[in-house]
Amino acid sequence: MTPSTDLNIPLFERAKALIPGGVNSPVRAFKAVGGTPRFVKRAQGAHFWDANDQRFIDYIGSWGPMILGHGHPAVVEAVQKAALEGFSFGAPTEREVELAEEIIGLVPSMEMIRLVSSGTEAGMSAIRLARGATGRSKIIKFNGCYHGHADALLVKAGSGLATFGNATSAGVPPEVVQHTLVLEYNDITQLEEAFALHGKDLACLMIEPIAGNMNFVRASVPFMQRCRELCTQYGALLVLDEVMTGFRVGLTSAQGVYAKSIPGFAPDLTVLGKVIGGGMPLAAFGGPRAIMEHLAPIGAVYQAGTLSGNPVATACGLATLREIRKPSFFEALSARTQSLVEGLKAAAAAEGVPFSADCEGGMFGFFLLPTLPQSYPEVLTTDSARFNQLFHGLLDRGIYIAPALYEAGFVSSAHSEEDIAATVAAAREVFKLLAK
Ligand SMILES: *Cc1c(COP(=O)(O)O)cnc(C)c1O
Repeated sequence: MTPSTDLNIPLFERAKALIPGGVNSPVRAFKAVGGTPRFVKRAQGAHFWDANDQRFIDYIGSWGPMILGHGHPAVVEAVQKAALEGFSFGAPTEREVELAEEIIGLVPSMEMIRLVSSGTEAGMSAIRLARGATGRSKIIKFNGCYHGHADALLVKAGSGLATFGNATSAGVPPEVVQHTLVLEYNDITQLEEAFALHGKDLACLMIEPIAGNMNFVRASVPFMQRCRELCTQYGALLVLDEVMTGFRVGLTSAQGVYAKSIPGFAPDLTVLGKVIGGGMPLAAFGGPRAIMEHLAPIGAVYQAGTLSGNPVATACGLATLREIRKPSFFEALSARTQSLVEGLKAAAAAEGVPFSADCEGGMFGFFLLPTLPQSYPEVLTTDSARFNQLFHGLLDRGIYIAPALYEAGFVSSAHSEEDIAATVAAAREVFKLLAK
């Protein structure tokens, strides 16, 4: 397509005149990879069509929520029915109770949950709750993990372990991040040192169990086990941010995956989003009753939301969860994701391109690196120019992956064997170019 016929270009120009960077969330702007973002017109199943009516196989799925693909009939029906009954009441509804029952029934570490509207809001509220419940201020997060854009979480590591973080965004005063300690992911020694120094002042440790915001990096089992042990020993809460992994890597989420290797493993608080809304603005945080009862109106930790537990969003989330808990849903989804990952590995190997990849359930990641990285600095050793070549090569061939090398990918139950085969064939062509 020549620039003069690409209808995404004038749309992007119009958008940039009115919306900063032309987008309502930065990664959509293609800043890292260059070029013009595709404006989506419509989507169905595993595909979407852009302003030019070009079809793409979608491996973003709204950054995770669309686990059933786009326009799943049962979900569309539930949303249409709910919309006819009313959009928002600011009063409780039965569907909020049903959604709470559904989520708690699948992830037993939660006895109570609170519904909110975004992952950012859920993560921010979980930290306030952890601080309120423990009466402590300090928190631990890990380099490369993203927990939404709340002020206290937009932090990178300071100059040394004993020092607290520096803000990664303008507009965040140093006082606001002075209680946030940033550690390296999968570094047990550093973790132990941090607890020895600050353990008695820590309200919580927050972690993505499989970090999808540095592409795809698993917390090692010994590391996760040590996080759990140290939190228990020092009376800090272990907060698993499962906004991405929740009901995406398996029906019991990432905590269920770790519980297979660590008997009895459970977090104190869980943060959810993405899949539980099925594409609508809905997120949640939950945990044991004794902690959750610190929230208003029972307890002293304030948290509220005009659209929280929105009746259309809860209908969408409920319909989605009811589909994914049908027998063998995750077996089939995992097998499809696995076949994509194996196909990509084989294609890269055939062309002699250094490549590593991993997946769990319907979430995957890959690196133009010979072995899987274990931490953010290792992820950063990727040659971004080569990644951008891969991204645009795939995009030109109708395959849409995340426009940044720090992002995970998502397979839905609507992705067919043909979609996977077409993706692997396209990737092989691009790997051939990369090998030159
Ligand atoms: C997406 C994401 C968030 C933020 O959720 P929003 O709904 O975008 O605010 C938080 N944590 C993790 C792990 C995420 O992937």
